[in-house]
Amino acid sequence: MNDNSSNRPVGLLYSGGLDSGILLGLLLSQGREVQPIYINSQLYWQPWELLGAERFLRAVATDRLQELVKLEMPLRDLYGDHWSVTGENVPDADSADDAVYLPGRNALLAIKAALWCQMHDIEQLALGVLRSNPFSDATPDFCRAFAALLKQCVGREIEIVLPLAEMTKRDVMSIAHGLPLEHTFSCISPIDGLHCGACNKCAERQNAFRLVDRPDPTPYRGARQ
Ligand SMILES: [Zn+2]
Repeated sequence: MNDNSSNRPVGLLYSGGLDSGILLGLLLSQGREVQPIYINSQLYWQPWELLGAERFLRAVATDRLQELVKLEMPLRDLYGDHWSVTGENVPDADSADDAVYLPGRNALLAIKAALWCQMHDIEQLALGVLRSNPFSDATPDFCRAFAALLKQCVGREIEIVLPLAEMTKRDVMSIAHGLPLEHTFSCISPIDGLHCGACNKCAERQNAFRLVDRPDPTPYRGARQ
């Protein structure tokens, strides 16, 4: 982000997970006014994810943190019987990072969040994408091209910024001091509303805390921890 952006509000595509929660904390610590945007795609884990997202926002509330904007982007009709809809055969802890790729989802979420920003005079949208991100629709090149298309489409400025794009998971976790990470939510296969402790995203979460030797405050419902 350039220097003259610091006084302007920034939209944040916010899922309530570790990365977007820590990015929210970073932007607030930089004095930014932040507009978090949550997009409900009716995926299996989202009712619990949204509860976590709202808990985290309450815990970090300041006068520069705007009220959560909730948008709908239903994807059940598109994804059909995919595990992200049914909650069955969810990628487990031993699966590769790209096993949790959802076709075009980053682009689908970003277009609605970016359009909301353009319609509300917000010229930047931040995404919590890390250097290790394996998804082709969340790379810096993709985001630049995507923003250019959106500007051409709507006729208003929009910049998609990736403040964590040079950071590893360890880097990101190391700037999370003081943030109430116990309220973040990462699981794609929750049990009774709690993290399962056995899915791909729970494994990533557990590893994130281990990377910085920070006690993991998450109550896992499943046996594997
Ligand atoms: Zn899980």
